[in-house]
Amino acid sequence: MSSDKSTEINEVEDLYQDIKTISRFTLIYCQGNHGAGEGLCPECRDLLSYAQKRRRLCPLDPKPACKNCSIHCYKPEYREKIRRVMRYAGKRFYKLALQHN
Ligand SMILES: [Zn+2]
Repeated sequence: MSSDKSTEINEVEDLYQDIKTISRFTLIYCQGNHGAGEGLCPECRDLLSYAQKRRRLCPLDPKPACKNCSIHCYKPEYREKIRRVMRYAGKRFYKLALQHN
């Protein structure tokens, strides 16, 4: 077993990548649904900080995609919200990406 540095770095990058994605998606969702303008409404800010905390505390290594996870560490109320965010923002996000091509 070689525990080299590159694995650690990848984990940190994954973590940042995930958190960045969650932030971006939450923003798209909030602006489309709550119309708070710049930034997030209090509800979405709360959801985002919750999601980031859960992501950072994930005990699984390697971490599976959250939807394939067996733990389901989210509280049901947050899980429902984040699911809605992902579904909404995911669609918008890919549409935007396509328009830019
Ligand atoms: Zn919002």
